[in-house]
Amino acid sequence: MGFWHTGYIEFHQPVGLTGEWKPGPLRLTCPHCGQEFGSEDDLRRHRFEAHPLYRPALFLNGRELGTQRVRITRPLGSKQIRVEGATRAVLNGHEVVVARLGLKLSEISNDVCRIVLGKEGVEAQFELEIRVASEADLCGVENQFKSMAACRRLDMRAIEDFIAATSRYSSAIGYCDGICAYLYGLMAKERATDCSLPHEAYLARYAKAAEELAPYDRNLAHTIGGLIEFHFNHFRDAERLCAGSRLGAVASRFAGWIESRVGVPTIYTDDADEEITALEGLVTEWDTEQILGWAGRPLLALSEHLDDIELFFKRDLAEFDRVKLHMLLGEAFAALGKTKSALEHARALRNLPALEGWAEALIREVGEHK
Ligand SMILES: [Zn+2]
Repeated sequence: MGFWHTGYIEFHQPVGLTGEWKPGPLRLTCPHCGQEFGSEDDLRRHRFEAHPLYRPALFLNGRELGTQRVRITRPLGSKQIRVEGATRAVLNGHEVVVARLGLKLSEISNDVCRIVLGKEGVEAQFELEIRVASEADLCGVENQFKSMAACRRLDMRAIEDFIAATSRYSSAIGYCDGICAYLYGLMAKERATDCSLPHEAYLARYAKAAEELAPYDRNLAHTIGGLIEFHFNHFRDAERLCAGSRLGAVASRFAGWIESRVGVPTIYTDDADEEITALEGLVTEWDTEQILGWAGRPLLALSEHLDDIELFFKRDLAEFDRVKLHMLLGEAFAALGKTKSALEHARALRNLPALEGWAEALIREVGEHK
């Protein structure tokens, strides 16, 4: 668990800050109707068939951009940008040939790009913030993070020192901001003594951190992003970001329960990638650590932990965590044949739209007689 709880394991033990580790395939969601697709081609076909173009559209890596500013932190290739349904394009006030917009954008490494696409009197506007982070700056931030973790202290002062030490890595400023937003959020969530933020402030900090870190293809960014998605019970997103780690395995299990409850594989978190799991442990707050520990075990093996879990459950927990525990206890009691307790936990989630299906399925299984 978090380096500030345990005095983190020595740094000669590998943690997955460097090295290859890629998140799982992106879930491709239609921004207009929310339907999901397995490939970019399928999504593209659906996009034009189901939602005919009435205004110009801009695509980045096959994903359609909305009106919100998008931050790009890696060098942009001209082929990553595609324009549909536009006869003219304006980039920061200068007219450019539509077919050359991608090339123009690929030449920019540090600027906010305001793009207007137009056709027959219809216009659409987009904003790309291109801040290409240098490898040296990204590594600089990660080295400072390691130093902070090695000090085994997390308080306001430690974060301020981290900010001061990373200020010279200016191209990676968003990376640093995202990490800090998470750490502040985590302190608020844990009600750290020297943290002036109220407990609920963690929600906004977590949301900010997830947004800031999303553009960074770095293990630490994926790990923090995955922990945040897991906290908010976005299990498939957590699984995608942390594929192969303990968190990824547990998230996949919760997602499976929600989606069908049939054939959810027994998970063995022992198989998880050790370095990534070690990195995960570095930045995992206390409650999440407990939940991951229990939810990573076979259900039948939970029989000896039920008292601990129920005791933990009585604490002042975040609602999102309470939901996970209701699910875990519901499943565990059902597996152990303790019908009455299983029903109590299932009923507690019956009125949440996202969990209704799970709750009803569990209630049916253990046999409620109305
Ligand atoms: Zn759609």
